[in-house]
Amino acid sequence: MELFIARSGKLSQLKCDYAALRVQVSLLKLELAYDRALKAEAQTHSTTHYIWRTRGDNKVRASHAANNGKLFSWDSPPPTGHPGEDYGCRCTAEPYARGKSELAYQTLISGMQDSPNKWGNVAFSRHFYLGEGAAVTLGETGNFKGIVDFYFYRLGKYNDVNAQIIEEARKHPAGSFEYPFRNSYAFSPYLFVLGDATVSGKFRGFVQRQDEMLSISGTVEYVFEDIFTDPSGERQEVIGTSDPAAATQELLDDTEYGGTYYAIVGEWQTSFRAEAKVDAKASRYKWD
Ligand SMILES: [Zn+2]
Repeated sequence: MELFIARSGKLSQLKCDYAALRVQVSLLKLELAYDRALKAEAQTHSTTHYIWRTRGDNKVRASHAANNGKLFSWDSPPPTGHPGEDYGCRCTAEPYARGKSELAYQTLISGMQDSPNKWGNVAFSRHFYLGEGAAVTLGETGNFKGIVDFYFYRLGKYNDVNAQIIEEARKHPAGSFEYPFRNSYAFSPYLFVLGDATVSGKFRGFVQRQDEMLSISGTVEYVFEDIFTDPSGERQEVIGTSDPAAATQELLDDTEYGGTYYAIVGEWQTSFRAEAKVDAKASRYKWD
């Protein structure tokens, strides 16, 4: 009897596992069918151009995230190939209709010189003890491209900035406008010692209005700023901030152990281009 119960218990567990598996498989089938339908639609090429759309999650590869919201021609694929061509790519091609379709993207226009000698956690800490407070640029630390990629594509911030600029453009009549922004982000997943750093920026450009659409173009200047300080995190505990300006000299002497805080800075520029609906409710680009 005991044996029977044990065996039937095992059997019902197997049945449960099998039922769960079947649900998973049918979900997978649905997802595949959806992908196939999207790709089939793209392959009929109902338009000469398409807008690249990613799934917008953190699994999107950086090179495809860089294509998001951009206009491409079926006749000349970007270096990445068309959406869905690359192995495992979940991106899609949205048929482009002039004056109706929305698009928004930024293209790097400043060079990014990176020292071949890339600083890691130890090198940043060494500069704290030996650098006598001299500021360093992201390029000097070999992390310029890494940080910009992390900000734009891992944190997906270019999508936010695009939406913010478009939202701002909705408030302006046709003509030039500026839009400054500033935010603090955790860069520790990129490099632990960086902690939180500030990225600020300013858009300068123009908006035109035609029927239901806004057409926006301009440039965005970005500034990355971080103060490397308080490597032990003690000041953070004592006075609630690691900001050296908020600490007394005595506390600084106690917490820095002979090191000197220093600034890490970086600047880069992008060109910005968007076509978006005047009506935020009907638009995929909105910000509140
Ligand atoms: Zn993709």
